[in-house]
Amino acid sequence: MGKLIWLAMMTLICAPLVAQEESSAVEEEAVASEQEAPASWPLVYCGVCGVNYKSYGKEIWVVSNGGEVPICSDDCVKSYNEDPKLAEKKFNFIITASFRDNYPLDQCFMDEEELGDNGEPVVIAYRNQVLKFCQESCHEKFQEDRKGGMEKQEALVVEKFKPEYPLIGCIVCQSVFLENKEAIHLAYQNDYYKICSEECIAAFGEDRAKYQGRLKLALVATGRFNTSVMRKAGEELPGPVQLK
Ligand SMILES: [Zn+2]
Ligand SMILES: [Zn+2]
Ligand SMILES: [Zn+2]
Repeated sequence: MGKLIWLAMMTLICAPLVAQEESSAVEEEAVASEQEAPASWPLVYCGVCGVNYKSYGKEIWVVSNGGEVPICSDDCVKSYNEDPKLAEKKFNFIITASFRDNYPLDQCFMDEEELGDNGEPVVIAYRNQVLKFCQESCHEKFQEDRKGGMEKQEALVVEKFKPEYPLIGCIVCQSVFLENKEAIHLAYQNDYYKICSEECIAAFGEDRAKYQGRLKLALVATGRFNTSVMRKAGEELPGPVQLK
């Protein structure tokens, strides 16, 4: 089954559909080397051959263009290094195909126009997450200043999810936010996290998978998340829960 999906994806990859993902005035160096597994990656496909890497019992993580790519074997690391661009294109295609429908924003973060108002939105993968633009010129502007663009995008993610945050405490240490307590608002891979201190930010960075899982659990508990529908914005939602 996984193999069939992969074949379908590989066929599509050859289509001009992904041409829009080719880009970037600023290319970052991408060479495969073994990294510590971030374990925050929800998919199980090797970024090079498309095989379920878990079934190999081997996991190699490669940092590529700022994103993390799982690779199943030394052979796949080798072919990755032979053509990182192709490997990246395949992997980004998996991300856009998998998360296209779960993008949280209705507007383009570059110019705040509604997505769809300027024709079919441009969908790309950047650092293991999907980004959408209302038109190609917005995508081009983003590629000229990715850091500035991400700041805008993350601010909108925070603004959107802040009012309906499902936890009453810090995602890391779980201490409850008192009314006068300043929180740190963090957007990470299209999700929003409320964190109490710089120490907890550091802890979050060390084990993102754990806190991503904790957020998902809280979203499930409040009915905002299930495996088929990530979010339904604007729904009447139950109040916050405290997770153990
Ligand atoms: Zn592989
Ligand atoms: Zn736009
Ligand atoms: Zn904390």
